[in-house]
Amino acid sequence: MPKSISSTVTRRRQTNLVRGGMERSQFDELSESMFLTSSYAYTSAEQAQRAFKGEEEHYLYSRYGNPTVTVFEERMKMMEKAAICQSTASGMGAVFASLACMLKAGDRLVASKALFGSCDYVCSVLMPRYGIDVVSVLSSEINVWENALSKPTAAVFLETPSNPMMQMFDISAISELTKEAGGRLIVDNVFATPVFQQPLELGADVVVYSTTKHIDGQGRTVGGAILTNDEVYYQDYLRMFVRHTGPTLSPFNAWILTKALETLDIRVRQQAANAIEVADFLSKQSSVRKVIFPGLPDHPQFRLVEQQMSGLGTIVAVELEGDQARAFRFINSLEMIDISNNLGDAKSMVTHPASTTHQRLHAQEREDLGITDNVVRFSIGLEDVEDIKDDIAQAMNA
Ligand SMILES: *Cc1c(COP(=O)(O)O)cnc(C)c1O
Repeated sequence: MPKSISSTVTRRRQTNLVRGGMERSQFDELSESMFLTSSYAYTSAEQAQRAFKGEEEHYLYSRYGNPTVTVFEERMKMMEKAAICQSTASGMGAVFASLACMLKAGDRLVASKALFGSCDYVCSVLMPRYGIDVVSVLSSEINVWENALSKPTAAVFLETPSNPMMQMFDISAISELTKEAGGRLIVDNVFATPVFQQPLELGADVVVYSTTKHIDGQGRTVGGAILTNDEVYYQDYLRMFVRHTGPTLSPFNAWILTKALETLDIRVRQQAANAIEVADFLSKQSSVRKVIFPGLPDHPQFRLVEQQMSGLGTIVAVELEGDQARAFRFINSLEMIDISNNLGDAKSMVTHPASTTHQRLHAQEREDLGITDNVVRFSIGLEDVEDIKDDIAQAMNA
């Protein structure tokens, strides 16, 4: 049996990212062990009966739980100061489960329009098919949200800052409005990262992550997580939904993600420092019309950024001079920065949102969101920042 070596002493966040939730087997291995097992054996029929009745703690089946997955969830809980973490096989598994577990036909869902493409698909295409009344909100103005939440609402879903235009939403204010409307606020915190923004502390009921992004941070796994302090939400909805529909994280991926948490903070802070330098560099380029980065004083919601984020994130978008052909020429001229729609990785990447992540949207929807054909998005990595800038400079001159 694994033995818990969790301390009774309250330790600090970074220590928990390295050691939180650890258990050791009888071999006293130093590093976290990996249990690649789908099932568990009982010493007797009676024990199996007690385990299924919940009278004895015992793993039943890895769709329900697995020791390696538990270590990852414990560490995530400590990081987010949440009572509950449910991991999932992907970020989209987390997003879908967070909504589908609790919504039923006739319920009202208010969702931001400025969402990651697949999240928008779930909210604006899938949910209406299940008879859920979906209201899409394009603006981050609080009076628009007040209006949208003036009727009883079961759930609110938003992402802040948003992909790729860095629109910011006021989590505290929207959480108040959500409570008044009788619902739960779910925040997709991927862009802000757990290092720079704590939605639960700001009043959100549920936070969701694609762990594929900064939490893995090294491009190896796809995964997700749902965190909450809402016992009713977990016990009555989420727990059973995940158990019986199966969006379960594999123990192998959980192990990689557990090890990745050890370096999350230092990776993200260094990437964010590089991103500030790159944003500053880009703002001085003549072929750049506009830099879209939450930290710039000309960002329309600069004050809100200061209020709810302790850092600026690792994503920088730009509006280039010229059309799509010019944007493609720039992207194709990059020699080091990879063309990829992923983000949050140690390797810097570039993508053209209008033709990739957001191509499913109608041209008018893209225009409403500001995702024009000359917008290019960078995910800034851990290379030497001088090499990142050199690559951008040579591609701009090409
Ligand atoms: C990537 C991403 C997702 C989806 O996560 P997957 O792990 O790709 O399923 C959801 N929201 C945001 C903001 C993302 O960047």
